[in-house]
Amino acid sequence: MPLPKAELHLHIEGTLEPELAFALAARNGVALPYTDTGALREAYRFEDLQSFLDLYYELMAVLRTERDFEDLANAYLARAAAQGVRHAEIFFDPQAHLARGVGMGTVVEGLWRALGSSEANHGVSTRLIMCFLRDESAGSALETLDAAKPYLDRITGVGLDSAEVGHPPAKFREVYEAAAALGLRRVAHAGEEGPPEYVTEALDVLGIERVDHGLRCMEDPALVERLVRERIPLTLCPLSNVRLRTVDTLADHPLPAMLDAGLLCTVNSDDPAYFGGYAGDNFDAVRSELGLDEERLRELARNSFTASFLEDDEELRARYLAEVDAYRF
Ligand SMILES: [Zn+2]
Repeated sequence: MPLPKAELHLHIEGTLEPELAFALAARNGVALPYTDTGALREAYRFEDLQSFLDLYYELMAVLRTERDFEDLANAYLARAAAQGVRHAEIFFDPQAHLARGVGMGTVVEGLWRALGSSEANHGVSTRLIMCFLRDESAGSALETLDAAKPYLDRITGVGLDSAEVGHPPAKFREVYEAAAALGLRRVAHAGEEGPPEYVTEALDVLGIERVDHGLRCMEDPALVERLVRERIPLTLCPLSNVRLRTVDTLADHPLPAMLDAGLLCTVNSDDPAYFGGYAGDNFDAVRSELGLDEERLRELARNSFTASFLEDDEELRARYLAEVDAYRF
């Protein structure tokens, strides 16, 4: 039995495996510029964030109906459950779909068809986090939040993703203020490719409660001290960092130093179909490549539930933490 864990940094569109991409393309009559799943798998060997993003957006063309989003989410939940994920807080990128003429209702209701029955079907509790694309305008983010208003009973929080450099958090002050006023939780990608100043700005200007990635905080000791003092969680994605060249090799990853510094770190998969593994694969990789011992792994699992947005169900959080404490490696 794998170590029980929560996954807090997972883009549902990044779980699209080549086999499902081809199945959905066939179902929807969408032509993919790849001869077969092998050729597509080969294309998943990109070099950096931009080449990944280009492929990521290209493949979204196969997602058209509620059933497509339902199938995508169910495929992820089954894989995650098999790797010990007990709770998943799932990102989605509505602007990438709205731009293709796929409506907010199709996306949210389609995902919900899987998420709403996930505890019964997969043994995984879920929350949904709507992300804004930071390389789009602030006005587009505001329109997206507006389009989501009929579906807010399905959405727990908002996030900020896509190309980081050149798109500082402050650009999205207004939409984050509006989201907070609607009672939504707030997270943002910061300090992945962007500088530590982006982390500070996301905390101060956007009021985020959790930092996605954030590993470049290690360049700023005062920021590290603040993150430790305020118990701000970081959602790290080690295999993603290697694939996108944020670190040269996994052995160079700052995770052990971050844990030693007292940071509330979690380990997640980001875009697992593209980055070489799901949550459990990331745990296995940091165990073997970074030499984390069992108590460190247990700490990471505990952190994942501590950092999750389960304030509306503390009983469930306590049950998950008890599962981690009782786990035998
Ligand atoms: Zn991400």
